[in-house]
Amino acid sequence: MKFDIMTLFPEMVERITGESILGRAQENHLITVRCHNIRDYSENRHHNVDDTPYGGGMGMVMAAPPIWNCHQAILAQVGADERCRTVYLSPRGRRFDQGVAQEYTAYDRLILLCGHYEGVDERAIRLVADEELSVGDYVLTGGELPACIVVDAVSRLLPGVLSDPACHREESIASGLLEYPQYTRPPCFMGMEVPEVLLSGHHAHIADWRLQQSLELTRNMRPDLYEAYLAAHPAEPPRKKRRRTSSEPGS
Ligand code: SAM
Repeated sequence: MKFDIMTLFPEMVERITGESILGRAQENHLITVRCHNIRDYSENRHHNVDDTPYGGGMGMVMAAPPIWNCHQAILAQVGADERCRTVYLSPRGRRFDQGVAQEYTAYDRLILLCGHYEGVDERAIRLVADEELSVGDYVLTGGELPACIVVDAVSRLLPGVLSDPACHREESIASGLLEYPQYTRPPCFMGMEVPEVLLSGHHAHIADWRLQQSLELTRNMRPDLYEAYLAAHPAEPPRKKRRRTSSEPGS
């Protein structure tokens, strides 16, 4: 899958997407992340990309022409058979979540427009974006971090990007529940022991413990998810609490 990031700060995106799992996914040609510096498409003598807002007000607004030119240059590289979508990262957009990430895996190419300063000239948004997408009800300084969030969440759903595809099934949110607590060596740390059942080697008991932990955590931390899960799985109410070891959450 190809990600084209339209930004004034390409290094920000390249640094984040070039590391760890996303970096490896690029090396293995599972994804391509290409940053396009909007400034390169300014026809202005000083390569200006922003200006003061009509009607007055604080800050600067990213001008429409360089964004339009940049988008046209990217579209010129899109193959006729490529399914492509352009998304403007914006606090007023549709809320990004796991479902949207899954939905985006159906595209071959995602073009992500990052705003900065006070935002983007409305005409640029109308002309280039298929939709506006928000990563949450808060305002960031730019769309670069939201773009990285989208690239990350979508990429890890693509075949081959994670070593074990089973990861998705049990993970928080994707499974409908929050994930159970995880432990690794040492078996005892600062007096807190790993729950005995996880050392038992008994797969059925471990699976059962994990489900009960997931149900309990979700009920406590995300009642909205819990209600939705129970509605979809009426046969799975949480069991009566068993005694916990001192290291288990909520003990
Ligand atoms: N003046 C704008 C408003 O009130 O909606 C906010 C502009 S914000 C300071 C600059 C840029 O950051 C936006 O154009 C957008 O690209 C990005 N941004 C900020 N918060 C975001 C969020 N929650 N989700 C997605 N993008 C966001």
